[in-house]
Amino acid sequence: MQHIEALKDAKACPVWHDPEVMPEGLPSLASDEKCELLIVGGGFTGLWAAMQVKEREPDTDIILVEQTFVGNGASGRCGGFLSSTLAHSETNVGYRFSDEADRLWELGTQNMKELLETLERYNIDARYEKTGTMSVALNPQYSQSLRSEYELAKAAGDDVVWFDKNAVREQVNSPTFFAGLWYRGGQDGIIDPARLCWGLKEVLLNHFGVRIYEGTRLLGVKPIGKEAMQANCEGGVIRCDKVLMATNAFTSSIGKIRRSVIPIWDYQIATEPLSEAQLKKIGWGSSRHALSDYQNMFHYFRMTKDNRITYGGGAAVCYYYNNGIGINLDDAPAHYEQLAQEFFETFPQLSDVKFSNKWGGIIATSTRFCMVPGVAYDGRVAWSVGYTGHGVAASRFGARIGVELLGYGPSDILDMKFVTEKALPWAPEPLRWLGVRFTQHALVKADKNNGKRGLWLRFLDWIGLGFAC
Ligand SMILES: Cc1cc2nc3c(=O)[nH]c(=O)nc-3n(C[C@H](O)[C@H](O)[C@H](O)COP(=O)(O)OP(=O)(O)OC[C@H]3O[C@@H](n4cnc5c(N)ncnc54)[C@H](O)[C@@H]3O)c2cc1C
Repeated sequence: MQHIEALKDAKACPVWHDPEVMPEGLPSLASDEKCELLIVGGGFTGLWAAMQVKEREPDTDIILVEQTFVGNGASGRCGGFLSSTLAHSETNVGYRFSDEADRLWELGTQNMKELLETLERYNIDARYEKTGTMSVALNPQYSQSLRSEYELAKAAGDDVVWFDKNAVREQVNSPTFFAGLWYRGGQDGIIDPARLCWGLKEVLLNHFGVRIYEGTRLLGVKPIGKEAMQANCEGGVIRCDKVLMATNAFTSSIGKIRRSVIPIWDYQIATEPLSEAQLKKIGWGSSRHALSDYQNMFHYFRMTKDNRITYGGGAAVCYYYNNGIGINLDDAPAHYEQLAQEFFETFPQLSDVKFSNKWGGIIATSTRFCMVPGVAYDGRVAWSVGYTGHGVAASRFGARIGVELLGYGPSDILDMKFVTEKALPWAPEPLRWLGVRFTQHALVKADKNNGKRGLWLRFLDWIGLGFAC
């Protein structure tokens, strides 16, 4: 079959992990060490935390430990959609933090501006393209909902462009597109996420002198008296004053973190670079929109600098029983096949295209569908986890909250409900698995039913646990 054949030679590795630019691995911890601040996790949260502490208080002595290599978690595996939203979506903000909506919007815009300025200041080439974001409707009913969203956005003064069926297909030619809404304003766009991780890593090492140990897993932390912390890592013990846990939804030794987030697996595939003729068939080469389809279980797809298409999401996202502990989750042929089939339905003109890469990663999902900050041990340990599907830019803000909670330049953001309000913990197994699976089926069903939410989804909305894109 076409889609299986097209996947035949795909490497099980993120397209971003280009061996040409992947930096050399760093040594693991091999003896006991001391520092002021220990950061656990070499993804965006950990890297941005180190960067912001160093910029605020340059003399801070920092060690960062990463269990595999920097950029091998969600940060180096994601779609690279850079969005200024801090709480997953405007709908989620309206639903959960409506009192703070304006402030969150301002902070999100400021965060994005500072992120881009940092890239410029340290000459980090993350292949940023200011594309905005574009939602496409896949049927006439969803076109109407999207149109209503356009009218609201326009009335609110947003820089938005509406494309009807013919116009959207001129932008990107797919027979499945019925309408498009392009958010053109602001700084939203796309990046190469691994290049961003590795650029930050290089600056932290060579400009700021942060000690980074790769292949070094934190096994547990415990207090020593009232002032210090002891971090037991593979390879040695690190004695420090403070710890920032930037561990996403990976297994954590801290119960409050474990209960705050669950790992939802999300899969992607990437094509080989498209030829001029192939680009012409879909007309996407010149517009370079960053696309997602307008539904609950949405796909996200974009072009890379070398004109590949990356394609992920949809109903291929998956929660595995007991967080998937002990299962080999990278080996997910059924999910790749589902994505490949949907890709060819979206772009039948590209029937000759082959896929070069296939990979998965974990999305740390919280019950409030956005970041969950927290502290333990009298404020000596802090964390920021759970960005759900929008963490590329939001993780920089999550890192800011984390370091401020540890006392590095605390500001009034710490008084916001967004920071102080506790997220509901996830239910224990088997309720967790049943609940997530059931909800996923209900979301798929709602998508087939033109977005009409059934009883279960309406119940979740009512108790404040509804998922809103
Ligand atoms: C497939 C996919 C697509 C996505 N697409 C987008 C997108 O397009 N746009 C967007 O905004 N967001 C997207 N996201 C979400 C975004 O990638 C994440 O929210 C963000 O990268 C989280 O960064 P992080 O640093 O918190 O986590 P990670 O990048 O996962 O970093 C955590 C790190 O901690 C390390 N670690 C964990 N435990 C330990 C330990 N005990 N000891 C040492 N190290 C440890 C892990 O190895 C890992 O490297 C996507 C996520 C996935 C998985």
